[in-house]
Amino acid sequence: MFMDRLFAGKLSGDEGQVVLLASPATPRLGPISNPVPDASFASGCCESLSMITKHAPVLIIGSGPAGYTAAIYAARAMLKPMLVAGLQQGGQLVITTDVENYPGFADPIQGPWLMEQMLKQAEHVGTDVINDIITEVDLNVRPFRAKGDSGTTYTADALIIATGAQAKWLGIPSEQTFMGFGVSACATCDGFFYRGKDVAVIGGGNSAVEEALYLSNLAKSVTVIHRRSDFRAERILSERLFKKDNIRVIWDTVVDEITGQSGKTPLPPSVEGLKLRNVVTGQEMHLTVDGVFVAIGHAPAVELFAGKLKQKPNGYLWTAPDSTCTDVPGVFAAGDVTDDIYRQAVTAAGLGCMAALEAEKYLAGIEVHREAAE
Ligand code: FAD
Ligand code: NAP
Repeated sequence: MFMDRLFAGKLSGDEGQVVLLASPATPRLGPISNPVPDASFASGCCESLSMITKHAPVLIIGSGPAGYTAAIYAARAMLKPMLVAGLQQGGQLVITTDVENYPGFADPIQGPWLMEQMLKQAEHVGTDVINDIITEVDLNVRPFRAKGDSGTTYTADALIIATGAQAKWLGIPSEQTFMGFGVSACATCDGFFYRGKDVAVIGGGNSAVEEALYLSNLAKSVTVIHRRSDFRAERILSERLFKKDNIRVIWDTVVDEITGQSGKTPLPPSVEGLKLRNVVTGQEMHLTVDGVFVAIGHAPAVELFAGKLKQKPNGYLWTAPDSTCTDVPGVFAAGDVTDDIYRQAVTAAGLGCMAALEAEKYLAGIEVHREAAE
């Protein structure tokens, strides 16, 4: 259930163009002189106003391609953006290796390198990049308020949400038992531990195929387990996979249980295999493996905004058509947190650009409104 968060100050005009008609708490540019947090936020997020408060016209949450691109555009519009990077500085691309579909590079580039370049570019044009994690937001007050894990409170006249997506898990109990002890969602992070061993990759999308290809250079054997008889992954990647001698695919099959030693001090838990079930025939089998890489997709990182912003039925943040405007004026969403279709670095960057341009228009609208009122 999602609360309708429409304010009196509403969006109007052409799609994507933001015009503030009226608001009981008219947003203001510049530092807050007398912030009035709402009661719920004051009790949780801002119990101590003596803590550090940082203000910027634009606050960007997230440091993936969407966040950094929004920062580059906002900074070049002289909006002095603050960008809070979160736990995974650089976003999802820092856990991959070759990126060969981001335009501008004739040869494959490394994901972490690309994200480092984006960070440097964002800083170079004037973004204040902050290492913190936002734990709570209040979209009911103006300026908007966000609490950082560090204790800092961030306030901003416009907010760009670029929190991206996080790995999905199978949701079976044994997955929890072996998480970090043979179960991983990142081959580039953990593949090294499986040199010369047998591993399984679960999934059939681009991530699963890329994980399998990466692991095939380290592991003795890689078994891809996919619940259907056809990959979702792009053909170019699938064909690369089929050519590898040490990768095989088990089709139409799901994992019912991850088996192994659950760990008794001083021994940590360790994976020994998988109980598999063919979804067409119902036949069960056991596969011996030392490690399991779950690559079944990603879910949008929307927990902070549940009940505060409108979401699509699948959980992604809702935005107005052809726009990054959410249902709260002044709050914009860009990248994988809202894009449930393309989910590419280049589309995330494109949406980040749109969000910054729309935030700039929104802030200009507030300024005009404020000057008219004075
Ligand atoms: P993300 O990259 O997900 O970044 C989200 C950011 O939000 C992170 O910095 C995180 O720290 C931050 N964040 C989250 N919550 C908070 C919080 N509470 N407070 C502060 N910050 C927060 N796409 C391609 O185009 N080409 C590829 O080759 C490619 N390879 C991929 C390989 C893998 C293994 C994966 C998983 C994805 C790949 N993708 C690829 C997809 C691509 O990475 C994503 O589409 C893109 O990164 C989305 O960018 P984003 O900025 O929306 O979000
Ligand atoms: P994805 O495209 O959503 O694929 C997820 C895969 O996991 C699907 O094959 C799906 O099966 C399977 N799956 C989902 N839930 C499952 C479950 N509970 N049990 C078993 N299998 C399950 O996710 P992704 O591969 O992580 O890719 C995410 C986005 O990033 C995509 O847009 C992708 O194009 C992009 N990406 C791009 C690149 C690249 O360009 N090189 C690399 C990686 C990711 P079904 O097929 O049956 O649904």
